[in-house]
Amino acid sequence: MASTSLIEIKCKAIENNVLFIKNLVDSDVIISAVIKGNAYGHGVEVAIPALEYSGVNHFSVFSSSEARKAYKAMKSSSTLMIMGFIFEEDLKWVIQQEIEFYISNLKSLKAAIELAKELKTPARIHIDVETGMNRTGLLLEEVKQAIPIINTNTDHLILQGLTSHLAGAESIANHMRIISQLNIFKKRKSLLAKNGIHPKLNHIASSAATISYPESRMDMVRTGVVLYGYWPTKETFINYIHRKKDKSDPLKRALVWRSQVMETKTVPAGEFIGYGLSYQAQTKMSIMLVPVGYCNGYSRSLSNNGHVLIKGQRAQVIGSVNMNMILCDISMINEKINIGDEVVLIGEQSEMEISFTSFADMNNSLNYEILARLPENIQRVCKIDNLEHSTTEHSK
Ligand SMILES: *Cc1c(COP(=O)(O)O)cnc(C)c1O
Repeated sequence: MASTSLIEIKCKAIENNVLFIKNLVDSDVIISAVIKGNAYGHGVEVAIPALEYSGVNHFSVFSSSEARKAYKAMKSSSTLMIMGFIFEEDLKWVIQQEIEFYISNLKSLKAAIELAKELKTPARIHIDVETGMNRTGLLLEEVKQAIPIINTNTDHLILQGLTSHLAGAESIANHMRIISQLNIFKKRKSLLAKNGIHPKLNHIASSAATISYPESRMDMVRTGVVLYGYWPTKETFINYIHRKKDKSDPLKRALVWRSQVMETKTVPAGEFIGYGLSYQAQTKMSIMLVPVGYCNGYSRSLSNNGHVLIKGQRAQVIGSVNMNMILCDISMINEKINIGDEVVLIGEQSEMEISFTSFADMNNSLNYEILARLPENIQRVCKIDNLEHSTTEHSK
């Protein structure tokens, strides 16, 4: 490995998680894999082939720059959808490649129609309606204004979908808000239908809604985090599992982030370890250095707090996370540790697992954040049917 760490994606785990969603929803519901944020840090170039292998052929990204990367990695028969931002200079490319995209305001609707006319290629749009999150989407007034514009430009538009986004289906505290959003969505749908506008696919559900709100599944679900093996929140997991006989976690974490031992040493009692006064050895300690720090996406919030796996056992991060290094307590590890031994930062080693959810105080937003912030220059590999897919190697 040329970088100081390596990320491996387990295709079998992705396949397991896709199957979990497939078994949950009706057979005619499309599963769109959300691969924004470099596929939640898993790496678009390796996540897409693994998802396609698992039977997914619809992908959702946030921006047109993410779309360019995904387009290169996916099969030409797969469908790509942009849920957010399109750079003005990218719109032509988006329409020409038949990439689908959200329309969240009247200005972008008009721009899409103008360009589609010019290119003599219809724009494949999803009408994004505001239902209560107050983030993106057409307000009721704007929906009414959009109706005649859409109806006079049917040659230049393919109405692929009607969409919105729920403001937190992962927590019961938001229940009333979610129900209200689903109702408003229905109203917008019938308003459009009354005016002869029938988008092909209605979709509103992310992972949490797909699991906790069956009525939100409609024609397509946009699932991100579950496909990589993480629950949106512990609450979503509890809500799912309490109805089941088998209480074991049906999801499998797809990512293993590993590095290696750079050095080991002993520190006498009373000494401070690392920068400043953040950690003092209370007894004589054995420690190891691992060449991964916050510049590699190992969050500083894991200072004195995170754990890694070595020899199938947990070792705690001590002191603060440095830019390129962490120090870990190996006093309690009962096997000899050598330079070059494998260290797992996220994922499984032997029977043990580090998943961010295992830290008691850590909430899941940190979970999403740490994954999404894994830098692109860490090499990713994924073995599919003995064929190794990989991101290009960086000499870092
Ligand atoms: C991120 C996102 C999703 C997926 O959310 P998960 O919780 O990861 O399933 C779906 N829809 C939109 C619009 C999103 O931005």
